[in-house]
Amino acid sequence: MSVPASGAIDCDVHPALPNTQVLLPYFDAYWKEHVQMRGLDRDNYNAAAFPVNAPINGRPDWRPEKGVPGSDFAMLQSQALDGFQNRFAICNVLHGAQAILSEDLSAAFCRAINDWIAAEWLARDPRLRASIVVPMHSPELAAKEIERCAADPRFVQVLVWEMQELPLGRRQHWPIYRAATDHDLPIGVHAGSSYRHPPTNLGWPSYYLEDYVSWSTGFAGVLNSLISEGVFVEFPRLKVVLMESGVTWLPAWMWRANKTWRGVRAEVPWLDKSPADYAREHVRLTIQPFDAPPEQGQLQRIIEEIDCDDMLLFATDYPHWHFDGTDALPDGLPDALVRKILVDNAMKTYPRLS
Ligand code: ZN
Repeated sequence: MSVPASGAIDCDVHPALPNTQVLLPYFDAYWKEHVQMRGLDRDNYNAAAFPVNAPINGRPDWRPEKGVPGSDFAMLQSQALDGFQNRFAICNVLHGAQAILSEDLSAAFCRAINDWIAAEWLARDPRLRASIVVPMHSPELAAKEIERCAADPRFVQVLVWEMQELPLGRRQHWPIYRAATDHDLPIGVHAGSSYRHPPTNLGWPSYYLEDYVSWSTGFAGVLNSLISEGVFVEFPRLKVVLMESGVTWLPAWMWRANKTWRGVRAEVPWLDKSPADYAREHVRLTIQPFDAPPEQGQLQRIIEEIDCDDMLLFATDYPHWHFDGTDALPDGLPDALVRKILVDNAMKTYPRLS
């Protein structure tokens, strides 16, 4: 289904750094010299889920003649913003900065990326908003970066990857959630890994195919951890947005999590409702790629099983190739739900858009 009305909020678009050298003006003097001395500016740290030239990395009509998909501002403006007549689009820069082992270097890169996106993208189109990129392996430095960027209301979310050194619910990460909650910033958990551990439960895979497919199961682990550790009890206003790993795994996860919780709830006495109910209240999912079944009746069944109209958020995942034309929405959704997916759910999830 094409987007039926203008004014939607696209919750997942991906501007890409054309190269690392564009960040040089955004490092302070120390880090600029450090990066140049080590030759780090000659490398590219784009977080890649596929081989660079794989079609899925960028739709053919969304690829610039030169450079990586998503790196051309005018193309993103005309294709993602004008093309879908969006009111807002939230920029999520996927970059290896968040996986760098040195916490200080990771923080320096994240600061530079946040200043770069603000100066070179957000400043050029009032419809653009962005997520704050943070050095996840140092919660203290990540919280500092959230505090620094929060002064700019165009930052509406904190961006992390689903697979980190520790599961996302662990207390080590709580300073990040505290800083985010203090500034009305949801945590956007994007598909991806900092590769401290194998991305599958079984060990290191050989192929991109195994890697990318396994990310949807990683999201189930994210929910297990956030809910069991009591993150939403400690931070009752926190919202978490799961991005780019489908939707239809959710009803099965809800069933398994609720069933198991009934049996072992004594070990997590801080949970005063079922895991599925915590998810319905605190967790949102972007709809691209929407792993919709072929028949509309099946889609209706999944929507009924999720049993919450607030959870789905519109996204194109520009410039990745999940669909053609403007068919970003699956067919067969009720009109009232479409309106919520396109606009209302995002406005409630991201207070800073108001
Ligand atoms: Zn994405």
